[in-house]
Amino acid sequence: MAVKGLDIFKLTPKSNCKECGFPTCMAFSMKVATGAATIDKCPYISDESKEALTEATAPPMKSIKVGAGEAEITLGGETVLFRHEKKLVSKNLFAVELSDAMSDDEVAVACEKLQKINYNRISEMMFVEVVGVRFAADTDRFVGLVKKVNDCGKIPMIITTDVEAAKAAVAVAGEKAIIMGAVKDNAAAMVEVAKAADAVLGVSADSIEALHDLVTEIEKLGYKKLILNVGETSIKEAFSNAVDIRTAAIKGNDHTFGYPSIVFTNKIAPGDINMQIALASVFVLRYGSVIVMDEMDFNAALPLFGLRQNIFTDPQKPMRVEPKIYEFNKAGKDSPVLVTVDFALTYFVVAGEIERSKAPAYLAIPDAGGYSVLTSWAAGKFGSTVIANFIKEQNVADITTSRKLILPGKVAVLQGDLAELLPEWEIIVGPTEAMQLPKFLRDLEA
Ligand code: SF4
Repeated sequence: MAVKGLDIFKLTPKSNCKECGFPTCMAFSMKVATGAATIDKCPYISDESKEALTEATAPPMKSIKVGAGEAEITLGGETVLFRHEKKLVSKNLFAVELSDAMSDDEVAVACEKLQKINYNRISEMMFVEVVGVRFAADTDRFVGLVKKVNDCGKIPMIITTDVEAAKAAVAVAGEKAIIMGAVKDNAAAMVEVAKAADAVLGVSADSIEALHDLVTEIEKLGYKKLILNVGETSIKEAFSNAVDIRTAAIKGNDHTFGYPSIVFTNKIAPGDINMQIALASVFVLRYGSVIVMDEMDFNAALPLFGLRQNIFTDPQKPMRVEPKIYEFNKAGKDSPVLVTVDFALTYFVVAGEIERSKAPAYLAIPDAGGYSVLTSWAAGKFGSTVIANFIKEQNVADITTSRKLILPGKVAVLQGDLAELLPEWEIIVGPTEAMQLPKFLRDLEA
């Protein structure tokens, strides 16, 4: 935050009237400077000062909402350049591009691939959020495709510089669609189309300098729901512009560039889907807010969505899975129960090995703070009482008649205490490494 408490204090009447809820004007000013209070709490600061201050204390990058209802997603709002500085707040979206020039069969194949990308990874649903439709020549078909995209729950992106085509498409696109959009020659008309539809307007220009000028012009026309195209002529230009735009916004406090960005990898590497996938991974890191490809299938989605999830999670919060009883390999009434922690990495390694064993089993995951087995145990979050209480609360004894409870080998020390707390259960010490689980479970089953 650039504004200091003393600067805010100078704008107050210094009467210490306490109407803002703080004992003095200075105390109030210091809270505003740290973001703990808002300037409008003091009724005696002039509207001009409030406006100036609101502008000065605004985050360097605007938050822009796209999509309607349950599909609404926020882009931008970043305050740092790198994940390790604090955290990145708005994950990038992936988009694929259709066109009215494509045949029905081509559209059907693309849609079928998209539908197969819909899976849960560490409590987050993974799917392609945005589908762009590029206008080629047939307005009716173009509008029909945009409507189809909206009807199937994706965020439509209308890709055309033709104002009339954009106007026709936006009428069927739902709220907060993206119109890609505005160029130097049509900016005023496209702003009117976007304003009327409450759409997000994509801005494109021949160079980064021209982009800055065009954004300034559009802001003067009173529209600030924008997304900036980083360029389509070369990898070097797009990457350099993406970094420069974000750096200017975050470090240079350049509010003109304080908008999310869009990268058309399919224009930078036309016809080369492997290069588009590689570029998409680059722009997840630096700094594509929406990344467009010709198509995406399940094989391409797995690494891209995994990378995105790693980059856009808070590094200060451990990745966790939901504490509950998980079922594997058609576990039934007599299947044993394994127990481990809720740290996502541990869960996925253990779950993978249980699946590999083909042995029916339950996996009990208590709330262990999201740490690894030994760390949770050392922190007192994965002790015998925690495990015993969880087994009782979840009524595990009603799920299976087996009374075999398998502990991770690394916390074998809990065996005695747990046997006392759960006297009807046989507490078995499992292997120390997850990879030993398949043989262990098969032996147990035999
Ligand atoms: S309401 Fe305004 S004038 Fe009164 S104490 Fe707060 S800051 Fe000072």
